[in-house]
Amino acid sequence: MPNDQTQRGFDTVLIANRGEIALRILRACKDLGLKTVMVCSQADRQASYGALADNFLCIGPASPGKSYLNKDAILLAARLTGAGAVHPGYGFLSENAAFSKGVEDAGMVFIGPTAQSIATMGDKIAAKSAMIAAGVPCVPGPDSELPDDHASVAAIASEIGYPVIVKAAGGGGGRGMRVVLDAGALQESVAITREEARQAFGSPALYMEKFLQHPRHIEIQVLCDVHGNAIWLGHRDCSMQRRHQKVIEEAPAPGIAPEVIGPVAQACVEACRQIGYRGVGTFEFLYEDGGFYFIEMNTRLQVEHPVTEMTSGIDIVQAQIRAAQGTPLAIGQADVVVDGHAFECRINAEDPETFLPSAGTITALTLPSGQGVRVDTHVHAGYTVPPYYDSLIGKLIVHASTRDEAIVKMQAALLEIEIEGISTNLPLLRALFDDERFATGGTDIHYLEAWLKRRSAS
Ligand code: ADP
Repeated sequence: MPNDQTQRGFDTVLIANRGEIALRILRACKDLGLKTVMVCSQADRQASYGALADNFLCIGPASPGKSYLNKDAILLAARLTGAGAVHPGYGFLSENAAFSKGVEDAGMVFIGPTAQSIATMGDKIAAKSAMIAAGVPCVPGPDSELPDDHASVAAIASEIGYPVIVKAAGGGGGRGMRVVLDAGALQESVAITREEARQAFGSPALYMEKFLQHPRHIEIQVLCDVHGNAIWLGHRDCSMQRRHQKVIEEAPAPGIAPEVIGPVAQACVEACRQIGYRGVGTFEFLYEDGGFYFIEMNTRLQVEHPVTEMTSGIDIVQAQIRAAQGTPLAIGQADVVVDGHAFECRINAEDPETFLPSAGTITALTLPSGQGVRVDTHVHAGYTVPPYYDSLIGKLIVHASTRDEAIVKMQAALLEIEIEGISTNLPLLRALFDDERFATGGTDIHYLEAWLKRRSAS
């Protein structure tokens, strides 16, 4: 039964998501000989990938709150179709502790961590405490809630040293945080952030840490079973971001020596053991001047998992499902070998200049292929991109022996790919892969925004 962590067999998986990740999960299920149930909103009813599932059910209107975020409708669909497990993908309900609990209380397996792990990592102060306990390096600043009185807050800020960043404990999606440059701006910044946190996340709890000024975003992928085994599968650099949204990812992160990141990754694995983490997860770090600083753990499969699949040769979604079934990890840390270099471009249906979403029908589509080229997408010529969801329509992934070779391969693939009928960010991706500074590796998280500013000024 599901509550026995080691006996969690199931033969049918309900996929509670849409688009490229729903198709990605469906393929992994098929590879494992599992049956699939796909749920969709009315807006996705015509999606052709639905026909690949053993069962394709509409669970509500286009609005995510009434379909992909509707826990009751998804649980009902699971019961009606005899699903033994639910895979939440990323986004939507993937990091919702109540959903994880609801699935397991209904006698099914949630393909993801326990509700408790999700809740701990969803509370940034609790997450930071757990990391400190496991020896994971964190951003300087206390793992406790900011007090109410200004004098104490000011003392914490000057102890850390300006600039500092004030963050909501329950924040997410890059919201609920504010940089404070000097003592004069502190009181007002804390008051505004507290009010925002109260309104947006239902809790006024804040904490404070050092604001790092030119970090890179480096993350570590972990995989854990329910028998206490935990390994890491390598690292990624996701510093190319616009408004905290990743645009290009790569594995491994360039220019970081194994002896520098190895102990950090070991501490992540130790943290997983300490909190009884199960399945896949990602530890996100800021990396500045040779130091790693934990910012958060994502307790789910990530958009950029394919770059790690390409360099490790491990199917992360299959591994995640096997772990959820209670199967012990088939490999140990010594079996994980990072081979070559991989890049991923996120292809978004959006204007490449204004970034406004671009819904509509794809009239023609040409996809690249060949050795080391992978496209994860659910779209095809004739597919209509609905206006209701995230603008990601696909991911272009390349893998080669070296970073330089992977760049050349990506440049060629970006020239081959053609999407007509809607606007996409392909012109931006092509320009970035021609950028000399990006080609040298190691650009920080502000690089893309500064690049865009320069572009609009010229
Ligand atoms: P969220 O859960 O909202 O994504 P994170 O804690 O992951 O919040 O932070 C989001 C982004 O904010 C980071 O990727 C980074 O760009 C920036 N950030 C967060 N903390 C710091 C910090 N201490 N110094 C500098 N930038 C930070």
